[in-house]
Amino acid sequence: MAVIDNTTEKTAEFSEQMRALGFGAGRPVMIAGPCSVESESQILAAATAVKAAGATALRGGAFKPRTSHRSFQGLGTEGLRLLAAARAATGLPVVTEVMDTAHLDVVAAHADVLQIGSRNMQNFSLLKEVGRAGLPVVLKRGLAATVAEWLAAAEYITASGNTQVILCERGIRTFETYTRNTFDLSSAVVARQLSGLPVIADPSHAAGRRELIAPLSRAALAAGLDGLMIEVHPDPDQALSDNEQQLTPAAFGTLMADLNLAPETIEMRLERLEAAIRDLQAERDRLQGRA
Ligand code: PEP
Ligand code: MN
Repeated sequence: MAVIDNTTEKTAEFSEQMRALGFGAGRPVMIAGPCSVESESQILAAATAVKAAGATALRGGAFKPRTSHRSFQGLGTEGLRLLAAARAATGLPVVTEVMDTAHLDVVAAHADVLQIGSRNMQNFSLLKEVGRAGLPVVLKRGLAATVAEWLAAAEYITASGNTQVILCERGIRTFETYTRNTFDLSSAVVARQLSGLPVIADPSHAAGRRELIAPLSRAALAAGLDGLMIEVHPDPDQALSDNEQQLTPAAFGTLMADLNLAPETIEMRLERLEAAIRDLQAERDRLQGRA
C-alpha cells in the first residue's frame, strides 16, 4: 500500500524531543503499548515486542481515567517507574497520561511525552499547567468535541509556550453502538489542515474492537496523518482494561509489516525491492502483450 507521506515537509520545525518520537523522519510515528501498565513483566514484554516490530514510542497508562471507580485505576507512581524501566530496557520514549495537575510533576519526571486524555480535553487548568512542563503533549480529542473545540484546547497549551502538541483522533460519540466510538477521519484531516500540528489516530479507542485496527490504521495513513497510537498487550484477553481492543504482539507485528513499517536490514529491503521490480516487470510485459 502506498502511504502518502506528508511528514517530511515539517522536518526542520520539529524539536529534538519531537524527533526522538519519530517525527520528521519521513515515516509515520508509531506509538504502541498496553492500555495500562500492569506489572514489570507485562510492560517489559510489551515494550520489547513493539520495539522489535518497529514502534517509535511506548505507550502505557499509569493513572487511568476509568468510567467506573470499581475498575482498575492503574498503578500510579509505581506504573511510572515501570515505564521508565521499560524505556531504559528498549530505548523507546514513553507516552503516558497525566490526569490531574497534582500528578504533573511526577508524571513529567518519568515520561517523555504527556498525554491528555479524551475526558480531560477541556480541563483548562490541566492544559495550562501541561503547557509549562516543557514536554511534547498528545492531546486526545474529547469524545464529543468539535474540531474547533479541539483546536481551541490545543491553543491553551501552545499559548503557555509549548508548541510541541500532537493531536490525536480517538473516535467520537455518535448514535452508532457497534463500534465503541466512531472514527472521525475527516475531522482528523481537517484538524491537520487548519492547525499545521501533527495529527495521529488511535484506532484502538475509536473502534474498541481489535479486528478493526488494521483497516482503520491503513485509512489514517492513506489520508496523510502523521502516525498512529495502538494498544498492544502480551495477553490481551487477560488485560485489566480495554481487553477487546488490544492487539497481541504477533498481530501488531503483522500490521507493521502490512504498513511497510517493520524494521528491515538493507539486505531485506533490497530483496523486497527486487521482488517488487520483478512484479512490475511482469505486469508491464502482460499489458504490453495485450496492447
Ligand atoms: C488511553 O489512551 O489510555 C485512553 C484512556 O484514551 P482516551 O482518553 O482516548 O479514552
Ligand atoms: Mn485503553
